[in-house]
Amino acid sequence: MSPLNPITQNISGIRERIREACARSGRSLEEVHLIAASKTQSSDVIRQAIAEGITHFGENRVQEALEKWPMLKKEYPHVTLHHIGALQSNKAAEAVALYDVIHSLDRKSIGEALAKEIEKQQKKIICMIQINTGEEPQKGGVQPSDADALIRFCTNDLRLDVQGLMCIPPADVPSFPHFAFLRELAKRHALPFLSMGMSSDFENAIGFGATHVRVGTALFGER
Ligand SMILES: *Cc1c(COP(=O)(O)O)cnc(C)c1O
Repeated sequence: MSPLNPITQNISGIRERIREACARSGRSLEEVHLIAASKTQSSDVIRQAIAEGITHFGENRVQEALEKWPMLKKEYPHVTLHHIGALQSNKAAEAVALYDVIHSLDRKSIGEALAKEIEKQQKKIICMIQINTGEEPQKGGVQPSDADALIRFCTNDLRLDVQGLMCIPPADVPSFPHFAFLRELAKRHALPFLSMGMSSDFENAIGFGATHVRVGTALFGER
């Protein structure tokens, strides 16, 4: 592969920025997972990222992921696949079969559908609860006022393996208050993972404790 391959360059640039952000905030590099947000990217492009050592990928649509990942997972069993897009209950069976981590658990009905499938398929799935920190009607995520109840329900009643929280801050405002809110909520529930930060703000998110940054454009280029 040519050293001028843009994905190669992008990945090394992002890794450097993650290293610097960790150094600035006194965090260890091992705490921060880079998830390549690979929606709309072809399997060949994904293979290039895997060749550069990327081991975490995030997909948004179950249907699209089903077209790429059964084959890719056979080729690269060490890769961890994350679901970062909206999830419908009627896709729970496919999602549980395909993914390792689900970031978008945002209502009881999805939690129930996932718990049922996890039991049936005897699979281990890590869950994160998506919080609509900006209270935007068009966006997924539980409202902040309902977050405590949903976290408790998924953890205590459904016995899901809830490990963290996820948010997608509004596009047009500074994201740091959203990151700070998510960090406090996770702390209150003793949840270790924070899925926050995208191409435009992942360094900032790391400063606020992100353990999973989801980077698409900065890694693969404009979609
Ligand atoms: C596409 C996507 C990302 C990555 O966004 P970029 O701005 O391209 O880095 C992160 N999180 C979610 C949920 C996404 O859908």
